[in-house]
Amino acid sequence: MNNTLTPTLTAAERARLEAVEGVIFDIQRYSVHDGPGLRTNVFFKGCPLRCGWCSNPESQQMQPELALFEHNCITCGQFDTPCPVCRQAGAAGNELAARAEICPTGAIHWVGERRTAGSIIREVLRDAPFYEDGGGLTLTGGEATMQPELAEALLRLAKAEYISTALETCGHTRRAVLEKLVPWLDNILYDVKHVDPERHRRHTGLDNTLILDNLRRLAAMGAPVTVRLPLIPGFNADPDSVRAIAQFVAGLGGGIRRVDVLPYHTLGRAKYAALGRDYPWLDAPRLSEDEVAARVDIVAAAGLAVSVGG
Ligand code: SF4
Ligand code: SF4
Repeated sequence: MNNTLTPTLTAAERARLEAVEGVIFDIQRYSVHDGPGLRTNVFFKGCPLRCGWCSNPESQQMQPELALFEHNCITCGQFDTPCPVCRQAGAAGNELAARAEICPTGAIHWVGERRTAGSIIREVLRDAPFYEDGGGLTLTGGEATMQPELAEALLRLAKAEYISTALETCGHTRRAVLEKLVPWLDNILYDVKHVDPERHRRHTGLDNTLILDNLRRLAAMGAPVTVRLPLIPGFNADPDSVRAIAQFVAGLGGGIRRVDVLPYHTLGRAKYAALGRDYPWLDAPRLSEDEVAARVDIVAAAGLAVSVGG
């Protein structure tokens, strides 16, 4: 399919797209794991799932929220009680919010801000000189399809500058949203976490019916999909679960022949503490290199190209 439209925008269209607003929580430069080449990742706030192993827990809620990284607190002396103590004492959110305004180290700060597509794309375009070898813009999160107007605006503004585009998605979104975004996407990195609906629901909060249906639809459209398989011990890293996922993907057709295996890590642990939340998967055992290699072999045996990482 032709999924690399590069329309010239009229001044009115550009102005309309640049004015679209949404909530993001980060723009990460020089990423090498989220599509080809060097990427600029825009992290959207909001996700329909609640995966217990999520490495970006600050992405899940739609609205901006306060985070408190205690190790950055210098006990600045502005208050009778330093902010970590304030949180432990169950201080009202309003008090923490007020402190976030004047924290000298950023130890307490808001995660997420409302931005226009125009301001985001101008920041992204600073990286354009580094987009040789296919690099470009990646929409991630959170789940970018929860803010479809901002996602579409950013993709169209990027394509108007001939910038490569990618979307990382959990797939739980309305089909119409995906179909609207696909024409502006060069790469779709699509998570398949489990093929068993009940296990999927138990550990992510929702079953996988919509996710798998959407992937079937993308395959039928010939969309440029790479499947991502996060390997989560205690959820889907057992050989039978990996085999079932690989066989499902291999049976899709439509050119979906590649799987990126993403071994579980706990790099997001400090964020749970910063948000005052439990991290249910913190003590999950890590897979050894040999165990990861064995899962890669299972995926490859289904006739799929497979790599570790992305
Ligand atoms: S889909 Fe991704 S961002 Fe959403 S909760 Fe799961 S791991 Fe986190
Ligand atoms: S304002 Fe910042 S540095 Fe001062 S006590 Fe609070 S978290 Fe610590």
